[in-house]
Amino acid sequence: MNQVNEILDMIGIAGRNQDGSYTRTCFSPAYFDAVEIVQNKMEELGMETEQDAAGNIRGILPGTDPSAKSILIGSHLDTVPSGGLFDGAYGVAGGLAVVQRLKEKGERLCHPIELYGFNAEESNPLGGTFGSRAVAGLISPNQPNLAQALAQYGRTVPEIMSCRRDFTDAKCYLELHIEQGDHLCNKGLQIGVVNGIVGIIRYKVTAIGHSNHAGTTMMKNRKDAMVGMAQLIVDADRCCREIDDTLVFTVGVIRCWPCSENVIPGRVECTFEMRHMDRSKTDALFQAIEKLAAQIPSVQFEIEKTIDKGSVCCDGTLMHTIETAAKMCGTTYTVMPSGAGHDANPMAHRLPIGMIFVPSRGGLSHCKEEWTDPEDLRRGVEVLYHTVLSLDAES
Ligand SMILES: [Zn+2]
Repeated sequence: MNQVNEILDMIGIAGRNQDGSYTRTCFSPAYFDAVEIVQNKMEELGMETEQDAAGNIRGILPGTDPSAKSILIGSHLDTVPSGGLFDGAYGVAGGLAVVQRLKEKGERLCHPIELYGFNAEESNPLGGTFGSRAVAGLISPNQPNLAQALAQYGRTVPEIMSCRRDFTDAKCYLELHIEQGDHLCNKGLQIGVVNGIVGIIRYKVTAIGHSNHAGTTMMKNRKDAMVGMAQLIVDADRCCREIDDTLVFTVGVIRCWPCSENVIPGRVECTFEMRHMDRSKTDALFQAIEKLAAQIPSVQFEIEKTIDKGSVCCDGTLMHTIETAAKMCGTTYTVMPSGAGHDANPMAHRLPIGMIFVPSRGGLSHCKEEWTDPEDLRRGVEVLYHTVLSLDAES
């Protein structure tokens, strides 16, 4: 019997679309359907449960030693629109499968287990990883437009501030997740022991040229912001590849003014995003982009930083515990960084974190083709289970 698949299928009842994708955006009825399914399962397994104002669900399995700190396990229950079954939900289902297995074996742990199903991890008007940031106490009440953004979900700033957890009685945070990339799949490996989550740096880049008539303005006289931006994007892409083969650069948004078929664009705005574990690599790319921009004569560039999320490291001791568990389970594994953000990122600001990855077929995620083989899902839970057991054996 594959418990994690059964639980995952149960959660998948919530927000399933006709085309086989899943839509459980934050605070939506479908999201809260998933919360209810998870809450019922937690209670069936003997966990005490509570929902907070941020829409997070938490289940607590009491331990036998009242002085022992909690082992936190979590991931998110929201999805992107038309996302897959596994992103986030697998980590929550995996935590439930671990608790179910403990119960079936009659094992009582010294340490309490606290299992979180977080809300609003995906991109949303409140900012990604909102639920876990609320628990970690990383949301500033002074954040611009927070009150208005919360009002659309019927929540208030003081309610969100009250979601903050006191971490003095928490030992560590573990997250089981699909890789969402193709590293494990391509290498034929079963488990990723995550060593950190990459930093995400974003800039708003504006090219300023001169709008003019598309018919009468000869090429030699143009100050075309679109052509200048296009050149900068291609140059930056090449430069990124030269700096490091694990540095990534993406222009995901482009806006153009006046955006008319017969007018030379006078202004183009883009987002430039770069990700890497090592700040010096993203810094090197940024400096190169500034230089490249200065070499494009017909257009002026303005560059403004909009997001600067530093990378976080997984705890070395926890990584070792996970590696030992992976070996004990007879799985093949590798140590690797996470290119995607996770709830583990905010939690890393409060306590040691460890993450376990399982392969994503074809590296696909955030789409209905997202898939991980049942056997890989089971193996990930197995590694999490043995990690929890060995952490429990520590003081
Ligand atoms: Zn996720």
